[in-house]
Amino acid sequence: MDMDKLVSLCKRRGFIFPSSEIYGGINGFWDYGPLGVELKRNIKDAWWRDTITSRDDVVGIDCSIIMHPKVWEASGHIGGFSDPMADCRECKGRFRADQLTYIRFDLAKDDSAETKPKTIYFFGSGNAVEVAEQNAKKIGKLQSSIKPGETLNRTDGDYTTLDTEAKTLFHCPTCGKAGTLTEPRNFNLMFESHAGAIADEANKVYLRPETAQGIFANFKNVVDTSRTKIPFGIAQVGKSFRNEINPRNFIFRSREFEQMELEFFCHPDQAAEWYAYWRKARFQWYIDHGIRSDKLRLRDHDPDELAFYSTATADIEYAFPFGISELEGIAHRGDYDLGQHQQFSGKDLSYFDEERWERDKPAMGMTSFKEYLKKNEGAEKPGYPYQYLPHVIEPSAGADRATLAFLCEAYQEDEVGGELRTVLKFHPRLAPIKAAVFPLVKKDGMPEKAEAIYRELKRHFNVFFDEKGAIGRRYRRQDEAGTPFGITVDGQSLTDDTVTFRDRDSCKQWRVPAAGAVQALRDLLEGKPIPGAESPATEIEESSN
Ligand code: ATP
Repeated sequence: MDMDKLVSLCKRRGFIFPSSEIYGGINGFWDYGPLGVELKRNIKDAWWRDTITSRDDVVGIDCSIIMHPKVWEASGHIGGFSDPMADCRECKGRFRADQLTYIRFDLAKDDSAETKPKTIYFFGSGNAVEVAEQNAKKIGKLQSSIKPGETLNRTDGDYTTLDTEAKTLFHCPTCGKAGTLTEPRNFNLMFESHAGAIADEANKVYLRPETAQGIFANFKNVVDTSRTKIPFGIAQVGKSFRNEINPRNFIFRSREFEQMELEFFCHPDQAAEWYAYWRKARFQWYIDHGIRSDKLRLRDHDPDELAFYSTATADIEYAFPFGISELEGIAHRGDYDLGQHQQFSGKDLSYFDEERWERDKPAMGMTSFKEYLKKNEGAEKPGYPYQYLPHVIEPSAGADRATLAFLCEAYQEDEVGGELRTVLKFHPRLAPIKAAVFPLVKKDGMPEKAEAIYRELKRHFNVFFDEKGAIGRRYRRQDEAGTPFGITVDGQSLTDDTVTFRDRDSCKQWRVPAAGAVQALRDLLEGKPIPGAESPATEIEESSN
């Protein structure tokens, strides 16, 4: 699947637009149009329902985007949430130094006084080889042994690890000048602002770069006010902001995006089990919503990739057209986050397992927990296993990346009735519009009857009414919007009060009593099979003329 085709379909059909497009757009920001907003909302709703409301052990929360700046000190984002950046002194371009890969071009001797090979470095992949080659040609003639587009000594490198002399040989990927890049400097990815009228250091605040910290900061509030008992989770869906240096690949990496995060708190002894549970459950969730498992991968981090506090992390990755990339991370974070917030806030964030204590204390011959603490005085964790900092399993997903994966997966081109069509084969639960209602022609009372059915369906589902143009063309438009079912009122409807249902994927048609349309659609959306030979329809021509 071609990414450009998907981006153009998203624009043309109102899924996703560049933000502020009338002003030329703004890099790293996107707007969701009428179809896109429904798709993303359905993804978030499905996640919310499957993670929270259909379970007994997870509650939801909705925290503010701007939090006390100390939250970000405790979480490590102020100190460590940064990328090494190199700036071009000449063209002011800015590049992530740890992502600069380079190609070396050997130049023909008579065209260059230099004896050393010229090295052109570039950023990322894609057409970068071409750009590097153009830059190389500006400096001298490429050796005749190099065919156009071919590179000599291509190496993937990390600019930060090069020595100073090697750096002077490198050319800016944008302007092509040599030795213009500064030493890499760390650049914090958090957006800053000021709360209040005075824009000074004391009022500095940050837009959250993840939703997780709001959950940790409210851990005690939730435990104290709800009946939650370990093991339990707190989940949140909301916007996060990262001043990404190189936003790219459509909505895959943007500067404002939405996350769907769960922090699942458990007893340290059970953490490995819960990690295995969520790792599997989250992977299955994407498959259940239509992602083919051969495009999905669960990749366990190597020990040297793990954050120092994490004992295990796995990424759910999807084979996007631009490469295999992360959709969601599932991390076993130990008690790192609660420990940090306990230390920075000075508040006790430990959990007391009262039930377990009440159960065990008679056997120990104790009457109060104070006694137990006194007995263990001097131990590293005197209250254990009754009072402890819970361990955390964190499945952290991006709503926009999920939207992109579902779009990529759904996009297909096939042939129907001898004509090419573009179709988005969304899972019915995620489809923005659930069904479209059509009068076959705009006469003989068909529009009125179709509209009555549409009004009735609209009370239950997001449905669409379209009476303009050839029926085949109307089907195509809905195929492109990913609408799973078409409901057509035709000549026969006027005599026997039935309608024709059409399935988006197989284009199969069958008849359903008009009065049963709501239930029939509900059954189909819930996955009930499409009726077989018992209710065939006289096929409505798919041709768009
Ligand atoms: P990456 O390595 O791609 O930058 P990350 O490992 O930093 O991602 P996390 O901090 O684990 O990402 O965030 C959890 C999830 O949030 C990611 O799996 C992704 O789905 C989403 N996410 C993170 N950064 C972005 C972004 N800039 N744009 C869109 N989604 C994002």
